[in-house]
Amino acid sequence: MGIADRLKAEIAAREDDLVALTQDLIRIPTLNPPGREYRTICDYLDRRLLRSGFHTELIRAKGALGDSDKYPRWNIVARREGKASGQCVHFNSHIDVVETGHGWTVDPFGGEVKDGKVYGRGACDMKGGLAASIIAAEVFIELCPDYAGAIEISGTADEESGGFGGVAYLAEKGYFSPERVQHVIIPEPLNKDRICLGHRGVWWAEVETKGEIAHGSMPFLGDCAVRHMGAVLQEMETSLFPALAEKRTEMPVVPEGARQSTLNINSIHGGEPEQEEDYSGMPSPCVPDRCRMVIDRRFLIEEDIEEVQAEIRAVLERVRDGRPGFDYEITELFRVLPTMTEREAPVVTSVAGAVSEVFGREATYVVSPGTYDQKHIDRIGRLKNCIAYGPGILDLAHKPDEYVGIEDMVQSAQVMALALNDLLGGA
Ligand SMILES: [Zn+2]
Repeated sequence: MGIADRLKAEIAAREDDLVALTQDLIRIPTLNPPGREYRTICDYLDRRLLRSGFHTELIRAKGALGDSDKYPRWNIVARREGKASGQCVHFNSHIDVVETGHGWTVDPFGGEVKDGKVYGRGACDMKGGLAASIIAAEVFIELCPDYAGAIEISGTADEESGGFGGVAYLAEKGYFSPERVQHVIIPEPLNKDRICLGHRGVWWAEVETKGEIAHGSMPFLGDCAVRHMGAVLQEMETSLFPALAEKRTEMPVVPEGARQSTLNINSIHGGEPEQEEDYSGMPSPCVPDRCRMVIDRRFLIEEDIEEVQAEIRAVLERVRDGRPGFDYEITELFRVLPTMTEREAPVVTSVAGAVSEVFGREATYVVSPGTYDQKHIDRIGRLKNCIAYGPGILDLAHKPDEYVGIEDMVQSAQVMALALNDLLGGA
């Protein structure tokens, strides 16, 4: 038997271990927010990876957004050197999960196994992927102990809330620098035969229109900021949304509807604040003197951020031209540039080769409509050779009765092990 077949056979033989590992991870309820049990899951991973010969570090993102003594942001980075020097392949998984929500028919933290699936919050997003990468690395190390380079596995906090206490912090500390790591695989649930090359860009901003407060019985004495915002919305409907729909991209974004520029109006608020639920009085009659809207603009690799900003300014300027007294302000809240790893990058070609080997068909390339931790690896770590590849169906993430298929995990682990063999020259 060749090495590829031996790796595949050995991973298949460890299905029970893979399932048990996934169940153990699901049973640690790492809910974020607020960020529970990070230390517990890091300690668990620490024991497991030490046993497999990794050198481990537990790192608290002290002082990072979200970190507190009550809810400390713990991360684990484990590294195992090969026999000779060479390149490093890093598997990065986030250890946090989102709230359970309603509608579950199984215990969200029970790790129940049924009909070839493991159920629970985080099963597909992404404890199943983390478990698959651990099994892949363990089997590879056992069967190819003479590999060159290094394997790293990290479990990181807070991906679901922006990654500041996780990958962003580690990237700032140099854990994702190109000198240390050459290839990154993030086992997010993107379906077992798809390779995710990157994501669109994000620009979040708050747009404020200004007015003047006055008594509501004499609105002509004031200036209604909400009506000004109404004019902005009207202008967006007539000129901006149609223009965005025309901006198509070469990025293979899925789903199809996201293969263009998009804009969501996240919230809009004008006038007096909403009162507490137990307030039983009436509102007071006032002309709103300001109205605020938060926009979430997703942009393409073909666009640059200055262009995206200028487009919104142009909408507001057109409104200003037609409305006396119109005044506005734009405040940027958050930005992430689009990123897309080259298809010729070794991590891409190795995983693509492994997908063909395991499934007997070509891999599909996709780009995510939203961002994930690759943004920090790209921007802070300056590391370009990064993909997301892992088991599980993306649509199940954050839903009730989330699950990961056992066969999907086994096959993904096989792909990961074959990619390791290709990148680190195992045998
Ligand atoms: Zn995720």
